Amino acid sequence: MKGISVSKGVAIGKAYLLDSTKFCIIKHQVSEIEVEIEVERFRQAIEKTKLQMAEIKKRAEKIADKYAVILDTYTLLLDDDILVNDTIENIRKHKTNAEWALTQTLNNFLKLFDNINDDYLKGKKDDLDLLVQTILKNLIGHSQESLSDIHEPVIIATHSLSPSDTIMMPKNFVKGLVTEAGGKTSHVGIFAAALGIPAITGVKEITSKINSGDQIIVDGIDGEVIINPSSETLQQYEKKQANYRKYEEHLLTNINQQAETLDGHQVKLLANIESNQEVKTLHKFGVEGVGLYRTEFLYMAATSLPGERELYEDFKQVVQEMGDQPVVIRTLDIGMDKQFGDARNNDEDNPALGLRGIRLSLAKPHLLTDQLKGILRASLYGNVKILYPMISSATEIIQANAILEEAKNQLRLEQIPFNEEIEVGAMIETPAAAICIEHILKEVDYISIGTNDLIQYLLAVDRINESVAHLYQPFHPAVLRTLKNIMSSAEKVGKKVSICGELGGDPMATMLLLGLGKIDSLSMEPHSVPKVKKVIRTIRLEEARQLADDVLEMSCPDEITSFITNAMRVRFPEDFDRDISFEQKLNPA
Ligand code: PEP
Ligand code: MG
Repeated sequence: MKGISVSKGVAIGKAYLLDSTKFCIIKHQVSEIEVEIEVERFRQAIEKTKLQMAEIKKRAEKIADKYAVILDTYTLLLDDDILVNDTIENIRKHKTNAEWALTQTLNNFLKLFDNINDDYLKGKKDDLDLLVQTILKNLIGHSQESLSDIHEPVIIATHSLSPSDTIMMPKNFVKGLVTEAGGKTSHVGIFAAALGIPAITGVKEITSKINSGDQIIVDGIDGEVIINPSSETLQQYEKKQANYRKYEEHLLTNINQQAETLDGHQVKLLANIESNQEVKTLHKFGVEGVGLYRTEFLYMAATSLPGERELYEDFKQVVQEMGDQPVVIRTLDIGMDKQFGDARNNDEDNPALGLRGIRLSLAKPHLLTDQLKGILRASLYGNVKILYPMISSATEIIQANAILEEAKNQLRLEQIPFNEEIEVGAMIETPAAAICIEHILKEVDYISIGTNDLIQYLLAVDRINESVAHLYQPFHPAVLRTLKNIMSSAEKVGKKVSICGELGGDPMATMLLLGLGKIDSLSMEPHSVPKVKKVIRTIRLEEARQLADDVLEMSCPDEITSFITNAMRVRFPEDFDRDISFEQKLNPA
């Protein structure tokens, strides 16, 4: 099966099918006294579900009355004597937990549906199933099957993986990831790349084709999944896996070398991190600093909002670990595919265009103050920079900087020292920021281009929707022109430019990016650093500029993509020719 490769390498192992929409219910016997407690718990879950359904109906009515009518089915089912009374009877008769009793009622109902010869009523089966899952969620108090139950090495296959799932996952047991949902820059890829495990998204129907325990190969190099391979195929892939490992090891021999072109232009190669635990391993890849600390995972993992002190402790640890190397800490960029664990703001109809990034921080200034105070306090221990996400006008930077001044004043009053000269930067990831780049540059010390979002908003292509993943084209002329314009505007006023989206860490794009304009640093998943460095050390800036000039003449995204792919394959056959693939042809720099 084919998908989108989002993290390189080959994983071979046992599949663990995670159906996060369903629960694994275990039967518990309860004592005589506990029976009525279970009944009461069940009644409360029903009431809670009714309220939730009424709320959903209210929202649906805003869209169209006819949608709201569909939801009446749920309300009717909840008032249905059979569903409620049968479950209560089951609890009393069998003396079991409410969850178990409810699933028994559901199973009886589903059997009834199977015997009905009416397509309309059969369609209601899914409604009932969905409703029961909602009641179960209210009974259990959380929405997902627990990943922390995994105690052996597995490859996870699932429809989608929420950021809170990734946080829960026992990292040392997860050897690979396959999802049905997700595009090229979904958080699944970012997470998998950070852990160095192969991952593929957009594999349609994988969850219906696979069973837990099946042997599975995840080829994150060519974006392929093989279920229950023959022994011959297995051998081939074991060789491919070993070759890729060797290739990566060889690449690591450049970790102490500079990322410098043959004609002497240097680029700093920095790491994107999602948690302070990653910092200890960064030196292995020859990283020269942290170019993007995505702090939202700190919030998603927490049961309550982390305050100034907690944030400060976390940042301080990262900064101290990095010594005098730069650490760019991005203020909270919650929203869209990254939501709070308990869904505190995910009731938006269009979250990609909603209250995300700096917008949320400005709407809740106390939140931003805590973040900034945490960052300021950590700035005393190294070379810290502040980065604001999702900026769409200079005004937002001016407002955020006013809150920064206030945070500095508070620290001065509290007599807590910090770096008074701390640099402030803006993410350039909205078309508005790219078009008004001159205004933005006036308000900041540096900029960092977030290509993941910039591409999504420029091309109007959802970065996490697998159905439009083929339209998510980093080499689209609109993207390349925008990047060139941003870089030349920054160069004119002498402000530094970093690229921290996935494109910045894609070795296939490195030569083109360098040719488009002046780049001071590229920030990426640390595993990509050696390969990007290899490209930089093998080219001349002049040639890169020629490549970019040639490409900027082209109008067709596909034409540019194949032009770049071919150019890179010819130049670096051992790196880009189906990667290291099944053959052993090692020749790293
Ligand atoms: C980006 O948008 O390119 C980026 C680096 O930020 P994130 O992927 O966290 O949105
Ligand atoms: Mg972004």
